[in-house]
Formats: sequence, C-alpha cells, structure tokens
Amino acid sequence: RTVYVNGDFLPEHEAKVSIFDRAFLMADGVYEVTSVLGGKLIDFDGHAKRLQRSLDELEMRSPVTPEELLQIHRDLVEKNGIVDGLVYLQITRGAPDDRDFVFPDPETTVPTIVLFTQNKPGLAESPAAKTGIKVISIEDARWGRRDIKTVQLLYPSMGKMMAKKAGADDAWMVEDGFVTEGTSNNAYFIKGNKIVTRALSNDILHGITRAAVLRFAREAQMEVEERNFTIEEAQGADEAFITSASTFVMPVVEIDGVALGDGTPGQRALRLREIYLDESRKAAI
Ligand code: PMP
Repeated sequence: RTVYVNGDFLPEHEAKVSIFDRAFLMADGVYEVTSVLGGKLIDFDGHAKRLQRSLDELEMRSPVTPEELLQIHRDLVEKNGIVDGLVYLQITRGAPDDRDFVFPDPETTVPTIVLFTQNKPGLAESPAAKTGIKVISIEDARWGRRDIKTVQLLYPSMGKMMAKKAGADDAWMVEDGFVTEGTSNNAYFIKGNKIVTRALSNDILHGITRAAVLRFAREAQMEVEERNFTIEEAQGADEAFITSASTFVMPVVEIDGVALGDGTPGQRALRLREIYLDESRKAAI
C-alpha cells in the first residue's frame, strides 16, 4: 500500500511519525474518513468542510489547502487502485521537542498529516445491509465536544467491544436517558412516515452522511424530527438505522434484544439506503 505522510507518497513500511507527535501522546489530532465508490470520492466537500471546522475549534492549522487535499485523495486512490474503499486522513498538532500539555508554538511545530486507503471491494453491497445489525445501549462516557472529530477513539472502541461481547454488532450511547449516537455513526428510528434523530449540538458528531440522508428523506416526502429520544421509544418504532461514511445507511433490526417490526430491515431504511447510494454515486468526484 502507498500512503501519504507530510508531503510524500511512500510504501507504508517507510512512513514514519515521531514518538513526540501530539496525537500519539495526547490524542491531539483530528481525522476524516471518506468513502470511495467506483473510484470516486463520496461527499468530499462535506468532509473537507468538517475537517476545517474541527481544526478551527482546536486552533490547529492545516498543512495543505482543500485543493491539495483533494488531489492527495485522488492520487492515493489511483496509486492503490481503489475502486471501492475508504480514504483515512489525519492531521495532528505535530511533534514538538518534548512532551508538554501546553500547545506548542505553531511557528516551530508544524502539523503532521497522514493519509492511507483501505480497500473494500463491494463496500456498497455489504451483506449486513441485507440482514440488518443488532445494537445494545451503553452509557455515553465520552468528553463534551463530540462535534469535533478527534482521534480520541478509546471509548468508542470499548463500546464496540461491549457490543461484541454481548453478541451484538454495535452500541448506541445514552446520556441523561437519551440516545446520543452510535459508537461510529448517527442513530435514527422510523415510526410511520417520520424519521427521528437527535438534533445537532456539541453532544454528537455532525455526520456528513446524516446531512445528506435527512435531505433525501425530506425530498422523498418523509417527515424529519430532530429531537431527543430514548432507547424505549426506539424499541417501539417500526424501523431503525444508522448512518456513516463507511456504512452509508445500515438498517438496525434489534435494540437491547428487542426486535423491531418482524426483525428484518425496514422498507423505508432500505429505500433511503438506495437513494443515498444512487445520489452519492452521481455526485461523486
Ligand atoms: N458519529 C460518530 C461518533 C462517528 O464516529 C461517525 C463516523 N466517523 C459518525 C457519527 C458518522 O459521521 P459521517 O457520516 O460523517 O461518517
């Protein structure tokens, strides 16, 4: 695999980052994951904009312009022959001379940028979309700025492990009695013609897939309600699903052991998946 690090395209075993890198020592870094379908990038502009927002919120700067970033994405996709897959991008505050909590001087410590691809043939034809996934609920023990896409992914990793140990596929996190989001995705339920998902705030990541799917849902004359909801309300729904750049729209068929409807993916969720994939492929760059 050819990867990109600080201006160079290199074989992955030659790519190196300092042990003093702030992301390694302090999770002081942000990331994005953009999907590739048919060799083209899905919603690149959305990911580039959110990246800039994450950087701004952390007073971090980007070592590349958005135009350069797009070119690096395209070069990596081409060099690695990716038809379907993902491009992972990470920018960190860089590697100062020593470990210190205080942010280093941006004049002397330049940001680190790393990109790599993940080859996922048939990404859009995932078998999980046919069966749906099972989720459990867990406490949301993350920090208070989940709108910033940082590389602090220990708790989401623990959440996936809790799900795995419980025989489920993923976990929905709950705070003060209400669902925030999935460990690496946004969470929704459907009742009648209405989609319910938590409103945007610092409590959740502002999903790029979420924005697109809610737009398509409204265009398809579905009602969208952005508000708090409980696990119990979702368990009583007709359908549920998650969204993310790597899973698109993925039906949820069970929540904490309670099957939704007849326990198979809901028709509306499947339809939204189809619309999302069709429209995203058309707009891919
Ligand atoms: N919430 C969290 C916590 C996530 O990690 C992700 C995916 N990175 C999402 C939601 C979905 O965001 P997107 O649709 O932009 O991939």
